Amino acid sequence: MSDNNMNETSAGKATMEKITSLAKRRGFVFQSSEIYGGQSGAWDYGPLGIELKNRIAGFWWKEMTQLHDDIVGLDAAILMHPRVWEASGHVENFTDPLVDCKKCKSRFRADQIPPENLAAKKCPDCGGELTDTRKFNLMFQTHIGAVEEEANVIYLRPETAQGIYVNYKNIVQSNRMKIPFGIAQIGKAFRNEIVTKNFIFRTCEFEQMEMQYFVKPGTDVEWFNEWKKRRWAYYEKLGVKMDHLRWHQHGPDELAHYAKDAYDIEYLFPMGWKELEGVHNRSDYDLSRHSQFSGKDLQYIDQETNERYIPFIVETSAGLTRNLLMLLCDAYDEEQVADKGNDDDIRTVLRFHPAIAPVTVAVLPLMKKDGLAEMASDIRKELKEDFATDYDQSGAIGRRYRRQDEAGTPFCVTVDYESKENNTVTLRFRDSMEQIRINRAELTERLRKEIREYKRVK
Ligand code: ATP
Repeated sequence: MSDNNMNETSAGKATMEKITSLAKRRGFVFQSSEIYGGQSGAWDYGPLGIELKNRIAGFWWKEMTQLHDDIVGLDAAILMHPRVWEASGHVENFTDPLVDCKKCKSRFRADQIPPENLAAKKCPDCGGELTDTRKFNLMFQTHIGAVEEEANVIYLRPETAQGIYVNYKNIVQSNRMKIPFGIAQIGKAFRNEIVTKNFIFRTCEFEQMEMQYFVKPGTDVEWFNEWKKRRWAYYEKLGVKMDHLRWHQHGPDELAHYAKDAYDIEYLFPMGWKELEGVHNRSDYDLSRHSQFSGKDLQYIDQETNERYIPFIVETSAGLTRNLLMLLCDAYDEEQVADKGNDDDIRTVLRFHPAIAPVTVAVLPLMKKDGLAEMASDIRKELKEDFATDYDQSGAIGRRYRRQDEAGTPFCVTVDYESKENNTVTLRFRDSMEQIRINRAELTERLRKEIREYKRVK
């Protein structure tokens, strides 16, 4: 993109338009069912998108399970007994206030339009008359089995958390877990959102990364503060721009029916500050309710003291797909790299942490001929075991670097004539564009070290 194409406000910055267009152009995210005109609220993750999503999920999973001796994983079913959602309060409370415009038929969440419009019942889009506010349950409902009747109602889960609560006793028993301990889960969730906009920010089908930490009553405030610290540190470790993150404490009107205290981590998206993740002190609400509705005793018995109690739960709940959008926005950069007037003077680069970049290292032969392509393929084969790799032999080398920059590939290895003589290659760094000469045999170790010690500079 040349300077002329960028207006002043968007120059060099991530805008939703640029992110959406890059995501499609490079195969990160496509509109669902696009050839039929698209399905709102649903998106498909293309070759680079699924790699990025898996990598983010892997980073979170490692952080929450492998690096914590006291947290174990779970993969519960999406379809659960309908009583679960009565016990959880979702059947009764999981509603958004909805208003419709009688004139232009637009639909709004009453809490997301200016209060003066709501009071005057005036559509913020066309000035038409708005309907009264009514409650709209966000759970998708369907029927299981052949007969569509009330008795067969089943819901698509609107959060992954309940799968953890109903398995809490199983896990205490099977894995001999001692309080405090946590259960982590990544999976799909579905919400019939009234308004889905801003690309993948708010969708009807999405993924969550949730961890429920079970603690002794009375220690919950301490653990809640501890998990706030740990979740903040997580984003620091991912190399996110920390001045784009802030805490937002839920006021009394915002607190969910189950929550004793709740904070959101908000990110400064191109459309403003928005929730990225919630850290909640859910008190003993969940297990008490499941105990009551299932008739099962869900008390924890401390083997040493013989104390019995319903544990309190501290929850960290992050959107995986929303994290992916955040990381795309956060990584996006446009940089002046050469003389003005040249087509290539601005490079678009995604500055992903190498641990989550869809491709870690691309191998590029300078020329296809004279055995360079064979040597490059060979090097790629060696690197494949340890890293996500790409191979590109078409076009000028500068353009190939740009393509990798735009995909967020942190390292490129270039094979040239000197490589054939002395087994050295060029290692190019995405962020600084610095190139060093390195022995082929040292590549794997060097890349490992670069990933481990990565520090974002821009
Ligand atoms: P909101 O107020 O934005 O509707 P919420 O407070 O209901 O969200 P939670 O129930 O706390 O959200 O969900 C935890 C996380 O799951 C959110 O921080 C967000 O990252 C993600 N999430 C929730 N709803 C959606 C959605 N419709 N699309 C994508 N991600 C979502």
